[in-house]
Order: sequence, then structure tokens, then C-alpha cells
Amino acid sequence: MCPMNQKKLKIWIEGKLYRWKKADIHVLTHTFHYGGGVFEGIRFYDTSRGPAVFRLKEHIDRLFYSASCLEMKIPYSRKDIDAAIYSVIAKNKLKSGYIRPIAYYGSEHMGIHPQGLKVHLAIAAWPWGAYLGTEPVKTLISSYIRIHPKSTHADAKICGHYVNSILASMEAVKKGCQEAILLDYKGNVAEGPGENIFIVKNGILITPPPGNILKGITRASVFDIAADIGIKVIEKKITVSALMAADEAFYTGTAAQISAIKSVNGKKIGSGKIGLYTEKMATIFNEIVHGRNRKYQKWLTYLK
Ligand code: PMP
Repeated sequence: MCPMNQKKLKIWIEGKLYRWKKADIHVLTHTFHYGGGVFEGIRFYDTSRGPAVFRLKEHIDRLFYSASCLEMKIPYSRKDIDAAIYSVIAKNKLKSGYIRPIAYYGSEHMGIHPQGLKVHLAIAAWPWGAYLGTEPVKTLISSYIRIHPKSTHADAKICGHYVNSILASMEAVKKGCQEAILLDYKGNVAEGPGENIFIVKNGILITPPPGNILKGITRASVFDIAADIGIKVIEKKITVSALMAADEAFYTGTAAQISAIKSVNGKKIGSGKIGLYTEKMATIFNEIVHGRNRKYQKWLTYLK
């Protein structure tokens, strides 16, 4: 559901909950102009023990890692942020959804160098269904390459990076697809605008190595789940022809969860339907996030 329909929800900004309409920033907010902010996307799920946040620690670790790439000092501890997240979920009486913490610079001055700017933190949460729907998606290899790792910290979740993702998404939708696939500067598969990518070939899961991707927490979860059930996962460059010749392909991401890829540039991947391995991973992932897998309780933080 679009967050703009969530007018009754409250958003946490620096210790206070604001009504949806009142959760504003100044127009000269530095991050708004230059993209120098960091954020996270976290999901929480409905379980028999109430709402549970999926891999909270890993997401907050990545938030601090992204901030460190910008030398941005978030003026809150992990404990403070965890507590703020719980309060946003509880006060809004949400059962499941998406959490968006964002750390951003203030509006004290407009020079590019952020020295002397105050760092702010806001946390919103809202119900959000499957980002890419439940059917396998048509994809387009973008004419935009993913941001070059020597232009920025490509593995950080920095606001400004998402201009690259916006352009790729718009191009894909314009050409009748639901999502894009970005190549790296060498012409190999990197990732989606907001997802990592796996292909399946002869029963092995293959995904691009770190270097030009965001190291996804869902991606890491797939590694563990696959190892558990005896499926091999390797990190290896994926050429466009390997992608086209894959038996299956899927995206992973907090918003997208595990989403099958139907086609790339109009060419079907495998049967064009959700493949055996993709389905298996998606089913186990779904059990885990809803608290129905004992071994992976450690990935869930319950509110009560
Ligand atoms: N790549 C990009 C560019 C993303 O924005 C995301 C979403 N955070 C991912 C990959 C997937 O990461 P995660 O599984 O941690 O959500």
C-alpha cells in the first residue's frame, strides 16, 4: 500500500512522534539537495507472537556502516534506534510492514561539504505488500550501468545512489517491464534497482560477488538457507549470456523478498514460471519471517 494513504500513522523524528502530515523537513535540508543521507529498509512480519522485525541487528549495522562511509555521525545509539523502531510499530498498532529509518543532514548551510551540519534521524513505518507482486516479473537490462565503485562507496545505502535506481526503473517500466537489471562497469550483471540477483544453473545458485552491489541482507539469508538444505551457492560474475541461459533467476530484497524473474529483455528465463529452487527458497524464507522455523528464531526480534 502506498504510504501516502497512511495519514493516520505517526512518524518518529528525533524522539517525538509526529502526525503523518506534520512530518516535514526544511526545504534547504542538505540531504534533499545533494543526496548525502543514509537509510534502511526493514520489514516486520505478523507472527503468532505478534510483530517481529526481521534481522534488525544486520539492518542497523548496515545503517551505521553506510553512515561511516559518509563520515556521518548518527547521534543515536543502536539501542535508541531499536527502541524508536519498536515504538513506531507499537504506537501505530501495526502488525506487519516496512520500516524506513533515514539519517540526514540539516539545513544550516548549503555548501557541499557537510561540516557543521546537524545529523537528524527519522523513522517511518507503514504496511507494505509484495513490492514486485506475487507473479514472476518481466525485466529489462538497463542502459544505465550501476554506479561505479570508484565513484562512491557502492556497497553503502546512500540516498544519492538511488538516482541510478530511479533512472533504471523508469526505463524498465517505459519499456513494458516491471523491474530493471543493472550491469556493472564491466558489463556483467550487478543487481536490480533495489534488489540483488541470483540465477540458478544446474542446481547451483549463483550471485554476483560484492564489489559493485549492495550486500543485501536477504541475499545473505539465502546463503544460509541454501546451505542448510544442501543447495550450493557461489559468488561469481554473471555475464548477460549466462543470465539469459539460466534455468531460473530471482531477485532478493527486503521490499521484494524473493521474487521470480519471468523474462529478461523479452526472453523467457527457464519456463518463465517460478522455478523449483526459487519456490523452495521463497517458501522457506516465508516460514522463517513468520516465525515458523525454530532454527531461525534468531533472525527475529519480537516486540513483546
Ligand atoms: N540492492 C539495492 C540497490 C537495494 O536497494 C536493496 C534493498 N535494500 C538490495 C540490493 C537488497 O538488500 P536487502 O536484502 O538488504 O534489502
